[in-house]
Amino acid sequence: MTDSYRHKGLRKKLAEEIAGKGITDTRVIEAIGKIPRHFFLDTAFIEHAYENKAFPIGSGQTISHPYTVAFQSELLEIKKGHKVLEIGTGSGYQTTVLVELGAKVYSVERQKELFDKTKRILTKMSYTSAKLYYGDGYKGIPQYAPYDSIIVTCGAPFIPEDLLGQLKVGGRLVIPVGDETQIMTLIIRVSEKDFTKKTFGDFKFVPMLEKKARD
Ligand code: SAH
Repeated sequence: MTDSYRHKGLRKKLAEEIAGKGITDTRVIEAIGKIPRHFFLDTAFIEHAYENKAFPIGSGQTISHPYTVAFQSELLEIKKGHKVLEIGTGSGYQTTVLVELGAKVYSVERQKELFDKTKRILTKMSYTSAKLYYGDGYKGIPQYAPYDSIIVTCGAPFIPEDLLGQLKVGGRLVIPVGDETQIMTLIIRVSEKDFTKKTFGDFKFVPMLEKKARD
């Protein structure tokens, strides 16, 4: 797969479009402008890689809208060296945005086929610092906790207790909560026992499902 001047041009436009929609964190805009999103899509969709749309990535899943990726990334307020847990690796696109923001990323995916495919793609693209895991995101990854932030990229029916427990004090959890549509929710752990909550409007994600799957 090549990254042509045309791709770079389309990407620059996409980054500008996202800035125009209200994303102000320039590091996030730069990451969107830098990462070749067409590498994450099946050949049938490559032509559309730089439209602000979600696309199928196999196993019934989708790569999130670039605007949604940017929106969630901004809410995380990542600083260089932050430990970040991602639930729902999917295509790996969001994972690479987190890496570009300087995060040390741990990412979990429950679909085995997707997990294998994305691992190959990220290795090929040399994003090897991100640690990918096949497992159930409801449980998080306790062995590397606590995290500076946690991002969930599938629609959660409720906020999983385990994820709250794996946040650092001062840490941020960005999670879309709901069934049909989801409300983007930011939880901040303000002390060992206390959490604050803010909401940011409606989004649409594929559902967060329980347990690992092989299909
Ligand atoms: N961040 C991804 C978004 C993919 S869609 C991207 O940029 O492409 C959400 C992903 O969450 C899907 O791949 C789905 O299989 C996965 N998922 C759903 N429930 C999960 C769970 N309990 N644990 C881990 N991953 C889950």
